[in-house]
Amino acid sequence: MKPVAGRDADGGVSGDPGSMAGRTPGEPGRRSDALRELTARHGGHGGLSPAALERARAGTAEGPEAWAPQVAEAAGLPAAAGLGPATFFADLVTPRGERHVRVCTATACFAARGGEHLAEVERALGVVAGTVDEAGSTSLQTVHCLGYCYAGPAALDGTLPRTGPDLADQLGGRAEPRAPDIPAADTTGTPVLLAGIVGGHSAWDVWREAVAGLRPEDVREETGVSGLRGRGGAGFPVAAKWAAAAGKPDTVVVANGDEGDPGSYADRLLMEEDPERVLAGLALACFACGARHGTVLVRSEYPRAMARLRRAVERATRTGDLAPSVEAAGPRPFVEIVEGAGSYVAGEETALIARLEGARGCARPRPPYPTDHGLWDEPTVVNNVETLAALPWIVAHGGRAYASRGVPDETGTELVCLSERFARPGAYEVELGTSVDEIVTRFGGGLKNGSELVALQIGGPLGGFLAGTALHVPLTTAALAEQGAALGHAGMVAFDATTDPHELLEHVWEFAADESCGACSPCRVGTRRGLELAQGRGGPGETYERLTRLMSEASLCAFGRRVPAAVRSLARAYGPALEGWDR
Ligand code: SF4
Repeated sequence: MKPVAGRDADGGVSGDPGSMAGRTPGEPGRRSDALRELTARHGGHGGLSPAALERARAGTAEGPEAWAPQVAEAAGLPAAAGLGPATFFADLVTPRGERHVRVCTATACFAARGGEHLAEVERALGVVAGTVDEAGSTSLQTVHCLGYCYAGPAALDGTLPRTGPDLADQLGGRAEPRAPDIPAADTTGTPVLLAGIVGGHSAWDVWREAVAGLRPEDVREETGVSGLRGRGGAGFPVAAKWAAAAGKPDTVVVANGDEGDPGSYADRLLMEEDPERVLAGLALACFACGARHGTVLVRSEYPRAMARLRRAVERATRTGDLAPSVEAAGPRPFVEIVEGAGSYVAGEETALIARLEGARGCARPRPPYPTDHGLWDEPTVVNNVETLAALPWIVAHGGRAYASRGVPDETGTELVCLSERFARPGAYEVELGTSVDEIVTRFGGGLKNGSELVALQIGGPLGGFLAGTALHVPLTTAALAEQGAALGHAGMVAFDATTDPHELLEHVWEFAADESCGACSPCRVGTRRGLELAQGRGGPGETYERLTRLMSEASLCAFGRRVPAAVRSLARAYGPALEGWDR
């Protein structure tokens, strides 16, 4: 997702990101990290390389206990340094057979078949989810979103996508494999994000002209005038975040391609179909902040995006598109592409940094903010992929032109992703402020077979739900917040009358309990208690309000704080069917 006050994955800060308030006395703004200091003494960068754990996991079907301690010991670290991350990330902890299948159980795939596809796939493969068969030949892993929400239910057979209602037959070899490309369309007449995909404009041209004729402060100025806000969910002004880091030595920029919001596949579309725009945006952000290095974190559920980004970096380096920055970077590569390891919360910016450092992908308290002490303690700017993809257009056309798009307080355009239940599912670039009703009926064509839209989820599991009869809302953070929902990453998942509201309620709590990183008790315990109540079918009970208040007020990051609001909006969308859950 990336709800506005939610997952915090893009802006991820509240208040002044450069604030020095609340730091540890004696060593201003620096995190105390014994593990980092220990590994530094052993000559490492300060943590266990995630790649080392992944290499060890790839060679065995055994669980982390069998190999993670040795990886840590080889790096001169205690066993916990290996077991910590290896038992945290789904990709590392799940046993692997020679054939590894990942099946999506996230919201859009759940809506497509009411979740029945999982049991069908288990039967077709002869293996239970989360296990490997006795021969060690086939393993099955459930994941929360593969980015095929427009065609689900979906699975990855190795790295090969399979989609459709006959998913189990495809995986069992009884039906032709199918995985359509993302349908994408511009509704604005002047695409920003789809300028390359539907308009054929090269983003590298903008980068070359910027390096030749602009100063970093010019790019910062135009971006400030544009009003561009982070598209990862938090909606923090991009120029303000850059200003907090700009000019500090050793600043790095991280492109957040960990699009964990089930229901959104905008980042996958951009990374796969126009990786040059993402890289040019990253180069512009580095230029604006004075950063010599950029990193793109791509979720492991997007293997094609990973491959295409890597090829785009090689191509750009060869052709000289990245030349000015490669020279500035010295012997280290200017852009590094790093793979995620299967965690929703690891898309939150402090958790993402922890993941890049080889730790468990848990959110960290702020301050210190990443713009002061981020990746390896260096000033770090984390911008979402869709945010970066808007920069070439802004630099080419000017901040004022971008600010004239959308609505005054929320400028520009957004990629809205419609789920499989729609008559015309796909990714649509729309002006911010477009009516949700227009998106659903005019662009999406309503639901398949004229089915009634009962509820619409916007912004992922922690975003929010609108009743199908209450869609006359402008697509803006502010307007959706008034309805108890959130824009998030602008994924829209439609539910028709075939979805049981109680099963959907359970699905939301199950997602929250599965993906809570466990770093703080209100969220770790609260999500499990919420799931128990949802499974009990006896209603939420008298203590439920206390539970949701505790989660909302005391959770460490926006994930735990946002769950109760998402459940409340679901209950309001379904009315009497979910009585009592709207507290
Ligand atoms: S356990 Fe705490 S830190 Fe972790 S996701 Fe939940 S709220 Fe965030």
